[in-house]
Amino acid sequence: MLESQELKPQNPYEEAVNQLKAAVNFLGLEEYIFEVLKQPERVIQVGIKVKMDNGKVATYLGWRSQHNSALGPYKGGIRFSLNVSVEEVIALSMWMTWKNALAELPYGGGKGGVKVDPSKLSQGELEKLSRNYFRAISEFVGVDKDIPAPDVYTNSQTMAWFFDEYSNKLGYPSFGVVTGKPKVLGGLDIRTISTGLGVAITSKEVASVLLNGIEGKTIAVQGYGNVGYYAAKFLSEMGAKVVAVSDSLGGIYNERGLNPDEVEKTKKERGSVINYSEAKKISNDELLELKVDLLLPCAIEGVINKENARRIKAKVIVEGANGPVTTEADKILWNNGIVVVPDILANSGGVIASHIEWVNNRVGEWLSEEEAQERLKLKIVNSTRKVVDFWKKSNVDMRLAAYSLAVKRVVEAMKIRGWI
Ligand code: GLU
Repeated sequence: MLESQELKPQNPYEEAVNQLKAAVNFLGLEEYIFEVLKQPERVIQVGIKVKMDNGKVATYLGWRSQHNSALGPYKGGIRFSLNVSVEEVIALSMWMTWKNALAELPYGGGKGGVKVDPSKLSQGELEKLSRNYFRAISEFVGVDKDIPAPDVYTNSQTMAWFFDEYSNKLGYPSFGVVTGKPKVLGGLDIRTISTGLGVAITSKEVASVLLNGIEGKTIAVQGYGNVGYYAAKFLSEMGAKVVAVSDSLGGIYNERGLNPDEVEKTKKERGSVINYSEAKKISNDELLELKVDLLLPCAIEGVINKENARRIKAKVIVEGANGPVTTEADKILWNNGIVVVPDILANSGGVIASHIEWVNNRVGEWLSEEEAQERLKLKIVNSTRKVVDFWKKSNVDMRLAAYSLAVKRVVEAMKIRGWI
């Protein structure tokens, strides 16, 4: 994991609850609404047995948290990581509720995870783990119930196993039960690029309001997985200058700008961005503290926290990851005039693409990749403008502005359904 992430200062569930509290107060809602939204509707915990290649049986703990379904079936990814805990999964499911509401998708929020280091498993063991986990939660998922997708260390192959396991159980193929599938099973090519593309579009929209445009602006990207790489690539194509990137082994910096594709090639061939020769090596902590126009944390939770927030010099932070800036850091950054574009807006491209895939699967007719990409772009631009317009009027930080719009929508649905 990233060096600075070892700090993991706060429980993400506390973070999520604090953020909800702030939105409930800002909207002037009654206390009981906070109490209702604080709790997930259901959390499923499963013990997953896997017969390993050496013949021994290992047991892993897994969860699926279904936070709120007022606006539609639960929707959100499943991650495989040693950092996974029940608190983390609940927090992430709550963030999905707000993300889906903000993007005006017909979904509630859910998230799942298995506590495992997938790099230690063979492909065969990983397949068994994926199938056994999905079988264990299968009565709680479904095309109109709960629709998982990829997240940290899961991918289209994992989704193919989930889809197959579930379809075997039903006795017929159910394409819409998971999104982020391979294209041959009704997935979309753009699902891979969608979160990074969304981060880039949101950054560009915000830069046009706050920084006089994205052209020539300097960018630092922390985390060079799917989200970080594509965000860097698209921002570079938009005319921005990506000066620094990092992965779990460290970072690189070149004030003249890096070529994101070359860096990606190095990472693929030689294991890490730090092996890229045309740049100076820096640490992850140094990357976060660079004087750049935009800083994009695209790895995991809590990397910008009360320990380092005072040293952040970027003008704008765009949250490619879920929850990379803690509540305490939010306050410090706000006082220092640094704008944080929140995760529920900035990284919503992934779930927006998931929705296009799910609609395709249900209708049984495929949009072309071009049409899908156009639809994705339009949706993200609209969401960003909606949040920025409201934020400019509201005199609070952008997270609170985005949360307020999202919470308001969920509460309206709960009221009209007669839940509250
Ligand atoms: N895991 C992604 C997220 O955190 C995507 C979820 C989805 O597509 O359902 O937004």
